[in-house]
Amino acid sequence: MDNSVIIIGAGLAGLAAGCYCQMNSFNARIFEQHSKPGGVATAWKRKGYTIDGGIHFLMDHKPGQPAYEIYRELGAAQGGSFTDLEIYGRYIDESSGKTLVVGRELDRLAADWKSFFPEDAQKIDDLIAGARAMQRDGMDGMDYAKPPELAGRFDGIRQLWEMRRLFRYFTGKYNKTITDYTQDVSDPVLRKVLKYMFLPEVPVWFVMMILGMCVQERLGLIEGGSLDFAMSIEQRYRDLGGQITYQSAVEEILVEENRAVGVRLADGSEHRADIIVSAADGYSTIFQMLRGRYLDEQIKKRYTEWKPCSPMIMVNFGVDREFPGEPPFNTIFLNHPLDVAGSTVDGIFVRIFNYSSKFAPPGKTVVQVEFETDWDYWNDLRRDNRTRYEAEKEQIAQDVLDRLDVHYPGIKSQVEMTDVATPYTTWRYTRNYKGAGMGWLYTPEIMMSVSVTKRTLPGLENFLMAGQWVVGGSVPGCLYSGRHIAEILCLRQRKKFTTTCG
Ligand SMILES: Cc1cc2nc3c(=O)[nH]c(=O)nc-3n(C[C@H](O)[C@H](O)[C@H](O)COP(=O)(O)OP(=O)(O)OC[C@H]3O[C@@H](n4cnc5c(N)ncnc54)[C@H](O)[C@@H]3O)c2cc1C
Repeated sequence: MDNSVIIIGAGLAGLAAGCYCQMNSFNARIFEQHSKPGGVATAWKRKGYTIDGGIHFLMDHKPGQPAYEIYRELGAAQGGSFTDLEIYGRYIDESSGKTLVVGRELDRLAADWKSFFPEDAQKIDDLIAGARAMQRDGMDGMDYAKPPELAGRFDGIRQLWEMRRLFRYFTGKYNKTITDYTQDVSDPVLRKVLKYMFLPEVPVWFVMMILGMCVQERLGLIEGGSLDFAMSIEQRYRDLGGQITYQSAVEEILVEENRAVGVRLADGSEHRADIIVSAADGYSTIFQMLRGRYLDEQIKKRYTEWKPCSPMIMVNFGVDREFPGEPPFNTIFLNHPLDVAGSTVDGIFVRIFNYSSKFAPPGKTVVQVEFETDWDYWNDLRRDNRTRYEAEKEQIAQDVLDRLDVHYPGIKSQVEMTDVATPYTTWRYTRNYKGAGMGWLYTPEIMMSVSVTKRTLPGLENFLMAGQWVVGGSVPGCLYSGRHIAEILCLRQRKKFTTTCG
């Protein structure tokens, strides 16, 4: 009957795939290695505080915005659960003493920046013009474009036509990395701010798009946090009759005559289904669970030449203090770099969870510091010397706290809870390749390629993939990739795809 589906992984992609399969009369069963849903969209409790280790902002959190409908269909858009992101980011440069705020008004942003950096006025105008174009002509659905398995003959042409006014931004200097683009910016502070507005490797058009979305009020904060968001999708999946089994790591995808027929779990048990979907880490799916048997040149290139996002250290503090009026996202460019894992860290990202009462008891706040680090260092240390691994985590927490105390005097004596997550922690709970929590790096080349990445593997039948290693890391992108699984299955069975929403 081709009706039973096994899904590997209960991250956002796996949960979405499960929901849409259930809505379309496929019987889905998810196997998840961890004890809770969400994958990298997660949170954990420590001493009365809730630490959110995932999603920073949600794109299209309001009814009527392009991706909102998928949140509603998946039960993740209950009333009042999102709040507008008023300030995209605050950037503090310790050495110059300058502070820049990126808010939702482009005119004001342009005026502020030009008064700070008059010699870079032309560059500022150029960037703002791009953000306005993105805002006006939209990038709706670009991320969520249909995969090759679903695209009709004219879909590509239609999409090109819809985005024709933005063409100039996807080519030439705007399709270079923001780091390249800022080479000729004369003020070093502006250069740093632009470079770290997202990641230094992203194309210029991506930064313009984020600015455009911020202005359009298309970026929101999740009041209940990432795990709450994932749990509401898990609940929707269960309500639709889906089954989920936790603490069940899939070790092998069973294949007979080049057809995927089931999975073997770490406990040795085997489970069979008509269709197998992996919404887990791409590398382990292709090279471990399937032992590298189903590859073509494109896939080989992807897994040898593309770079994953850098893994992160996340230092969390539960602080007996409120932070009224502070923006939730702050980047501090340090005057004296931190020395971590044998490299220097010259900037830290500080997240202040002051926008909801869900993260801390009254009067208290979670403050989180993130920065990029090295996978091998932390993985080797955790494996070879557990005592030193723990000691290094403690030392980093101390060093980071010293730096925070400069900006939030007194914080050192107000800390009640400290928690440090390393790239090893990310790997342990999500199995993402080398602790890369957001999948592939958002380079211009990768961003242009993920929209045409196939969900199938060459030579293997009854098998599909979803998630951030297929479509790139983003909440709506991963949810859509789950939806595409059910759409492909319906298309194959010549069934009409439906979304039964309450
Ligand atoms: C810190 C951080 C901040 C982010 N911020 C944003 C943001 O602001 N906005 C945004 O849109 N996106 C953001 N993202 C990206 C987004 O959250 C992710 O791209 C998305 O959640 C990934 O979902 P996924 O299901 O593809 O993968 P994952 O979350 O990695 O889920 C994969 C699941 O598979 C399970 N699994 C793996 N191997 C096995 C196995 N062998 N057997 C069984 N189960 C297995 C894992 O345990 C996991 O639960 C952020 C990501 C991170 C890490």
